[in-house]
Amino acid sequence: MSFADLGLSPELLQAVTDAGYSDPTPIQASAIPSVLMMRDIIGIAQTGTGKTASFVLPMIDILAHGRSRARMPRSLILEPTRELAAQVAENFEKYGQNHKLSMALLIGGVSMGDQVKALEKGVDVLIATPGRLMDLFERGNILLTGCSMLVIDEADRMLDMGFIPQIEEICTKLPANRQTLLFSATMPPPIKKLADRFLSNPKTIEV
Ligand code: AMP
Repeated sequence: MSFADLGLSPELLQAVTDAGYSDPTPIQASAIPSVLMMRDIIGIAQTGTGKTASFVLPMIDILAHGRSRARMPRSLILEPTRELAAQVAENFEKYGQNHKLSMALLIGGVSMGDQVKALEKGVDVLIATPGRLMDLFERGNILLTGCSMLVIDEADRMLDMGFIPQIEEICTKLPANRQTLLFSATMPPPIKKLADRFLSNPKTIEV
């Protein structure tokens, strides 16, 4: 399987070439076509398998070719830690450099001022840790009603860190007919329960 077989646009294939990747990893080969077909996904995969590109590449294609609703975020990526959120933001910038998509990195430990300014200008994608996202939401700085794609990354680490109640609350604030992708290295019962409740007819991919 080559990247050209996965349904990505020529611009994204160029980004993959620019990144120096010759072939998709197994999670990329399985997930990318399904994400592009708007399926919900459960990806059972560790860090290091290339799972970030398996959701960031098709997300950029969907956002770049979809209709933009002014000033409303259209995708939300939840990460358990600031470091992971920052890494995903770097990936998003690397693969999306030929697209005019905007992004806000919403993590704790830094002042809210710049994050609020970015949100006021309007962004396409939010990359966030659950705590800071909820803080900004409760202050009225974020509208999630236009978010038709949600990624819950490293779900088992979210569980270890006690974030599941916040994730459940966030899920209820997004439109019900969204696309949801959940990634986890393991599937303990609370994550299975979360997936049963918030994903719809998901395709499970285990690598
Ligand atoms: P991740 O599992 O998303 O943290 O990715 C692990 C590393 O693999 C990152 O440094 C990526 O840049 C790299 N990577 C992702 N996809 C590919 C690929 N198809 N070929 C080679 N390296 C890749």
